Amino acid sequence: MERYDALIIGAGPCGIGAALKLKEAGVNFALINAGTPGGKVNIAPRVDNYPGFKEIPGPDLAFAFYERLMKAGIDIIPDTILSLAKEGEEFLLKGEYGEYQAKAVLIASGTKERKIGLAKEEELLGHGISYCSLCDGHFFKGADVAVIGGGNAALKEAIHLAGIVNKLYVIHRRNEFRGSNNLVNELKEMDNVEIITPYIPVEILGEDKVTGLVIENREDGSHRTLTIDGLFPLVGQLPNTTFIKIDGVLNEWNTIPVDREMQSSVPGLFAGGDVLPREIRQIYLAEHDGTVAAKSIINYLNK
Ligand SMILES: Cc1cc2nc3c(=O)[nH]c(=O)nc-3n(C[C@H](O)[C@H](O)[C@H](O)COP(=O)(O)OP(=O)(O)OC[C@H]3O[C@@H](n4cnc5c(N)ncnc54)[C@H](O)[C@@H]3O)c2cc1C
Repeated sequence: MERYDALIIGAGPCGIGAALKLKEAGVNFALINAGTPGGKVNIAPRVDNYPGFKEIPGPDLAFAFYERLMKAGIDIIPDTILSLAKEGEEFLLKGEYGEYQAKAVLIASGTKERKIGLAKEEELLGHGISYCSLCDGHFFKGADVAVIGGGNAALKEAIHLAGIVNKLYVIHRRNEFRGSNNLVNELKEMDNVEIITPYIPVEILGEDKVTGLVIENREDGSHRTLTIDGLFPLVGQLPNTTFIKIDGVLNEWNTIPVDREMQSSVPGLFAGGDVLPREIRQIYLAEHDGTVAAKSIINYLNK
């Protein structure tokens, strides 16, 4: 069992922001992360709202975060936390590879993609279905593809895909988009994009790979079948919080309410970034949360 004063779960912008502050203050802590450092920033095709850059590809920004960590001499423990419990004053964490104990914990584990819940969605994952245009878009060069979703992330991924594929359908369940008008207008100006609203997907077609999608008009119930080679369901995110085994931490949406110090309902347990219940999920907000949480962790440990 590895013992620390503080542990951070997740090395996205929130966890990295916190780690830099804890390191500066000389706290005995560890940063545990599953996947690539930088978190979701790695799959953002284009970041155009991060101070200091007019625009920057997500992976480049994620690498810059990683370089900041390296420069500060912060190592990442590669592990996936499977359970987080509290015994007395201490938090106990079990990972896939190790067990850890700490007086304070920051949950900065972000989100995962929400599924659309249709038959064949799991089965055809990697055979035409993908949740990341930046990771898999190049497999669909010259192909016909559909994106489902209407938020900013979906619109940005759609713009990225439209530059690669032959034809792109953007399917959204409402006539209005939740994402910004600028992005919707940018999409509308692209010759190979067809925006189809108000439609929902009802059946994925194909045996070994995606060959089509049946969609339903939400106003008149009529159906339309699209012939496609690829499908990107981008209908939102679910918080990565299932490993939390402490009562009263999560709300009904499985996100973590916190106070102004980023502390949850449990003393010593902090959270920040996309695991919080909030409308807007952004890199600079997550980084801000991490910095505030680190300051609060320092105060908590000093008490
Ligand atoms: C396609 C897309 C485009 C985006 N574009 C922009 C943009 O242009 N501008 C902007 O500001 N924001 C953008 N965002 C949102 C932004 O990426 C997120 O708000 C931000 O990354 C959240 O940071 P975070 O640290 O809370 O979580 P994340 O970045 O999700 O990082 C969480 C980390 O925790 C790790 N983790 C999860 N569970 C565990 C576990 N059990 N054990 C250990 N580690 C775990 C994950 O692997 C990950 O590394 C975009 C998001 C997407 C999906």
